[in-house]
Amino acid sequence: MLLTITTTHTPATDLGYLLGKHPARVQTFPLNFGQAHVFYPEATETRCTAALLLDIDPIGLVRGDSEWFGRTFALGQYVNDRPYAASSFMSVAIAQVYRNALKGQAKEHATLAQTPLPLQAMITPLPSRGGRNSSSGAALLDRLFTPLGYTLTVERHPLDPQFSDWGDSRYYTLTLANTCRLQDLLAHLYVLIPVLDDEKHYWVGEDEVQKLLAFGGDWLRTHPERDLITARYLRHRRHLIRTALAQLLEDQPEPEPEETAEAETTLEQRINLHEQRLGTVLSVLRQSGAHRVLDLGCGEGKLLRKLLEDRQFTEIVGMDVSHQTLEIAADRLRLDSLPEKQRARIHLMHGSLTYRDQRLAGFDAAAVVEVIEHLDPPRLAAFARVLFEYARPGTVVLTTPNAEYNVKFDTLPEGKFRHRDHRFEWTRAEFQTWADAVATQHGYTVRYLPLGPEDPLVGAPSQIAVFTRPA
Ligand code: SAH
Repeated sequence: MLLTITTTHTPATDLGYLLGKHPARVQTFPLNFGQAHVFYPEATETRCTAALLLDIDPIGLVRGDSEWFGRTFALGQYVNDRPYAASSFMSVAIAQVYRNALKGQAKEHATLAQTPLPLQAMITPLPSRGGRNSSSGAALLDRLFTPLGYTLTVERHPLDPQFSDWGDSRYYTLTLANTCRLQDLLAHLYVLIPVLDDEKHYWVGEDEVQKLLAFGGDWLRTHPERDLITARYLRHRRHLIRTALAQLLEDQPEPEPEETAEAETTLEQRINLHEQRLGTVLSVLRQSGAHRVLDLGCGEGKLLRKLLEDRQFTEIVGMDVSHQTLEIAADRLRLDSLPEKQRARIHLMHGSLTYRDQRLAGFDAAAVVEVIEHLDPPRLAAFARVLFEYARPGTVVLTTPNAEYNVKFDTLPEGKFRHRDHRFEWTRAEFQTWADAVATQHGYTVRYLPLGPEDPLVGAPSQIAVFTRPA
């Protein structure tokens, strides 16, 4: 199968710098399912084309543990289109062979990499499965690429050129033209080729969500076929789809800029509130007798570290909606270099608290420290159900700022929140009204604790609710 990329930008041979492949050479790259060859059928000042030819080893495929074959019909191992059709293999090849270009990196040509160029791509043969919601494969091509600004030329291949009455196959030659950054073109192909094919040759797990967000984050959010793309890309795995959509939709200001996180820290530093908060949460968790605990909205993992130091906690799971934050947490906790026994106690996962998630069920306790004020108020009801109805841990320790105390921060302008991303900050009465209602509705009891030095008038800077589910 073949992917060519052409530009008419002058000098057109700059394409070689952008792809990191010299126009005068034929280069071959080993992949674990075959080989990729890159060569330039034309390379002039005014027009330059780079070709990526995939040569898949059909025998190696069957011998390997590609789960794809397990899911097809009985003779699927022997009779299949995988060696010949552009599929997830092509995406893997793009990511490996054009890795830097896909990331928008080009050593001495950084500006060019970020400049929209006249580009054309041709892929053949490209399977396109119309499926339930689209009339035909050709219509799907149109619905996926037109919203991204491409002009399409679509040629459908007959099932067998010698027997025209057999009709058409689901394979196409697709030509796309657009003026965009090379990085964008590659990202669109990387995500959409397997979507068209509606298959993947490897197991699709959590990290596939990260890939989708990394390469689709910018354009997928507003794409009219966002749901179909997400569902097919994630092989219709419901919890992965939910996680990805949650992150795409929640327009989480991400990553949390260090500088604003700092601002809140400085503000609260004088009383070292966060340390106190974590200490209190930890002691409540200890007293609850919990062994298996969740830290929901774990952020950069400060509480996780404390939990890890205490052997009472045998299974510790941190979840956050921001994968960037999770990476920082993994670094700070040095997960990579923990001894195996320690490593087995802790697990980080990506997910949103406003979507039901089976992975959260069956824990003794959950901490939700300074998280709810980051949720949009209309999502709070969904959050309460996810936590108290579906996950249903025995104990929930939940903290949030006490808005009444804000008058004591003299650097904080009146009416402003402590953190740019806070969607609200509650008084003690507001918090208790909400928490009482949640507890009643889901059969928990709840008690409240002040956090930090208490002022007779405005109370403590932060507040904690401890929910307990009667056994
Ligand atoms: N609990 C941590 C971090 C608090 S900051 C601590 O006390 O240090 C709030 C965290 O909630 C951020 O890391 C943010 O990414 C996360 N968050 C916001 N909305 C979320 C959601 N819907 N699901 C999961 N985490 C969320």
